[in-house]
Amino acid sequence: MDDYLDESEDDLLAELGFPDKEIGCRGLWNLHLNGKWYRCYRPEGQITPPHDELTLSTLRTIKHLCDKSNNLEGWEAVPFSSPIHRDLNYIYTVDIDADTFTISLWNELSAPSAVQMNLTKIHEISRINLDMMRKPQYMLSDYTCVSNKAQAKQFETFEIDFGIPTPMNELQERFFTDLAFVWRFYLDDPSTWRYDSPVFRVFCVAFLRLAAWDFEVSFDCNVCNVELPISFASIPLWSYPDADVYWFHGYLVILQDDLEPTAMINGAVSTAKSYVGDSRLSHDDVCLIVISPRHLVFVELSREVALASRGLVLLSNYSGTECSPGFRALARVLTSNCWRKPRAHREKWPVHMPLEVVQMILHELEPRDAVAFSQASFAAEECYYASESQLKNVDVQSFESSIPCCGERTGVTGLQTRGIRCSECYAWQHLECLGPKNYSFDYRYVCMDCEDKACMVPKPGGIHGNRGFGKREGCEVRAEGLVQSLELRLRKPSPPQLPPELQFLGKLVSNVPSHIQYTILFNNSFSGLAYGLDDSC
Ligand SMILES: [Zn+2]
Ligand SMILES: [Zn+2]
Repeated sequence: MDDYLDESEDDLLAELGFPDKEIGCRGLWNLHLNGKWYRCYRPEGQITPPHDELTLSTLRTIKHLCDKSNNLEGWEAVPFSSPIHRDLNYIYTVDIDADTFTISLWNELSAPSAVQMNLTKIHEISRINLDMMRKPQYMLSDYTCVSNKAQAKQFETFEIDFGIPTPMNELQERFFTDLAFVWRFYLDDPSTWRYDSPVFRVFCVAFLRLAAWDFEVSFDCNVCNVELPISFASIPLWSYPDADVYWFHGYLVILQDDLEPTAMINGAVSTAKSYVGDSRLSHDDVCLIVISPRHLVFVELSREVALASRGLVLLSNYSGTECSPGFRALARVLTSNCWRKPRAHREKWPVHMPLEVVQMILHELEPRDAVAFSQASFAAEECYYASESQLKNVDVQSFESSIPCCGERTGVTGLQTRGIRCSECYAWQHLECLGPKNYSFDYRYVCMDCEDKACMVPKPGGIHGNRGFGKREGCEVRAEGLVQSLELRLRKPSPPQLPPELQFLGKLVSNVPSHIQYTILFNNSFSGLAYGLDDSC
């Protein structure tokens, strides 16, 4: 009889995805106390599984410590809770403030899910009941596919003519997918990718910075302070505005919780009106960028009317491999005058200098100073976005992300810049590449990729599930006179990187670990993005 019971329990454990006893169980403890987050884990992440009596006794010890002494020795203060990662089986989150205990785990669809219990009632049980683990949260109803074609009825809509993507846009699209890819465990777990988590603010500002080319490229080949690979213990540490409303490059950014675009716009318009005030609105239109965990909407607000764009998906299940329509639109808006009218006539900067001089200054400045300089003057801003500032001497050669029809912009084949934007994914295609069909301007073109694509709205675990296999494709660029491939680096070179004067030695050995040439920083913090140039094949 005993044997029978044991066997059935093992089956149940296996069914619930419990790790094999031999392999061991890995996880991490989060703790929320007095509004602050802490965490604790062993270097290899070993942890006791939920049904183990030790888990419950650890939990009681933690609760006791918090109640009595507040002595959190051994706990690391962190800006927010850690999400579940593919290398971990469980995350235990003790939230003293909310009086909950949450177990994050993987469900049968390999998606993050969670079970929550009342913390004060924990002392009544002797063991965490396995049956509870069968009913995880984050049911699909929370994540039903909201069509991104939904229009805001009570708002007049407008379309933005984005024009042909620039070389800068191509790189931005790749940085966006790479960022979503390396940090996917934060974006895939609904416990962190939600409106009320600071993680949402952290990544919103990262997307905005990438879209505005507002970051620093570091050429420092001393990569000791670059934290790679991004592991379950990695934390995105760049600074972020701790607010739902803020100005960014002259646009008013509004973060929202709403699920569907109409409600988003309603909320954003009233937020913006009270933030900006009637007096400003009476002589100035305000351009709003409204972002929710799923959508992005552009709103043009004046005193009388609000015009809204369609709701675009900002982060989709495919964002680890292809750029989302929301980011494409955002990058075009923030690096060109396609939405906002040119503002050079409003220049208040008293110094008049020829554009060539501005260009020279931008070229010579350190990355951070170049960003600051471009923000000081409208003329400097236009110059800044006219070239791939910061990535000096790097010329984009292929446009597979932004112009997927042929991957060419114009250049050698002399293709015309006449083209059309897919109304779903916002990728740009040459009219010539699409064939002889005549497209009128009001025609809603949908590209072949999008015609049979399933819903893009992200599901828990969606980015990881659609991350693709094999090597990630680099971007073909011309650098130092050679056509090379700009490749994302997921780990540091080992043995350590040689100083530049000795790098030729590395080239004598085949399969040298890949060097890191560029790292992208947000306000001096590593973004998770590191790149190197490989020979193009
Ligand atoms: Zn083409
Ligand atoms: Zn498309």
